[in-house]
Amino acid sequence: MGLILEFEGKELFRKYKLNLSKSILVTSAEEAKEASSKLGLPVVVKAQVLSGGRGKRGLIKLAKTAEEVIQHSIDILSMQSDGRQVTHLLIEEGADIAEEYFISMVTDSYTLETLVLFSIEGGVDIENLAEERPEMIDKIRIPFNGDHQPFIFMSTLAKRGLTGNKKIQIARIMSTMVTMMQKEDITLCEINPLVVTKNEEVIVLDARIIVDANATFRHPERAEYLSEELRNSENEKDAKAQDLAYVDLGGEIGMLSVGAGLGMATADLIAVFGGSPRNFLDVGGGAGADKVEHALRIMLKDAGLKSILINAFGGITRLDEVATGILQARDKFDKIKSGEIPLVCRLMGTNYVEGIKILEDAGIKAYKDMEPAIEEAVNAAKGN
Ligand code: GDP
Ligand code: MN
Repeated sequence: MGLILEFEGKELFRKYKLNLSKSILVTSAEEAKEASSKLGLPVVVKAQVLSGGRGKRGLIKLAKTAEEVIQHSIDILSMQSDGRQVTHLLIEEGADIAEEYFISMVTDSYTLETLVLFSIEGGVDIENLAEERPEMIDKIRIPFNGDHQPFIFMSTLAKRGLTGNKKIQIARIMSTMVTMMQKEDITLCEINPLVVTKNEEVIVLDARIIVDANATFRHPERAEYLSEELRNSENEKDAKAQDLAYVDLGGEIGMLSVGAGLGMATADLIAVFGGSPRNFLDVGGGAGADKVEHALRIMLKDAGLKSILINAFGGITRLDEVATGILQARDKFDKIKSGEIPLVCRLMGTNYVEGIKILEDAGIKAYKDMEPAIEEAVNAAKGN
């Protein structure tokens, strides 16, 4: 999932000329104080983290004095979110809020329509509102490439009592959001709250945007986003550098597959046998011994690992090569060598007979069928 941070989302909104408060990204309390003197008090100190509901978690605080800016910044920078320390704050001009609205748009990946949700009861927990008073949320569907001029949204806004300049401005924002979603490969775009200030200014106060990760090639700058950095664990970054696909899953069995489809099937079968995969690691077709060794090195850095299952189906990948990589890894990595982390292999396909022989001669259990290998890896993870 490609959720991006608030300040990254706001940069996109700025590109499309939506009205935002001035803000400065900082990483320390001193920088926060400096930023607040540039912006003028009061300011809002906002943690740049990937999960929402920051207000409720004390990750957003209003500061009316320079002392408060420093104190709130120190407090928030000492907090954690998503299992890691908060490192970045957005210091933003404080808005004098009169009303809070909610706009959310998602792309329906099947019909390619944009589903637009709007409510005059923004700011609050929208999931609760959807459950308790769904009639307070308006829904509009825009066909892909369909007309989404501002006037399309006017009647909905009018029905909710919005008039005049306010209605026109909000309709424009909605129209721009649809354009932006299509041009920027965005699958979810949410503003909660969109506020109207006491002097009737409409301001985008928050940004929650999910970009389509498969479209990064069209937006190469996104690979450098701070959100990308926060999203990837150390292991995931390491794997990427070695051109391996790696995802943390949180179970107990380290799973290495040759072929992503096989990896998915293996994860399902692990569950059938009563276990759970610790990670998803795919070395891809044509992998040589060194790549297999790198994969095992990355996997072994994970402290929660209980056993390792290698499931390899060799099409273009030669399984004697895979077996050689496994041996290289065993000889280098103590946790495998000492038997602390049991290792079970299954090889089938190109040169599998040679591969199994290489492993068995070295004292490593290797199967040609999938089920017994998976069953053994599940049992080994449980200490049996
Ligand atoms: P979220 O909790 O992660 O969705 O973060 P938001 O950016 O939506 O902020 C949460 C709440 O903090 C908003 O609904 C506002 O009520 C409040 N807030 C955010 N910025 C300002 C501001 O500039 N002025 C005031 N008075 N309140 C703000
Ligand atoms: Mn919000």
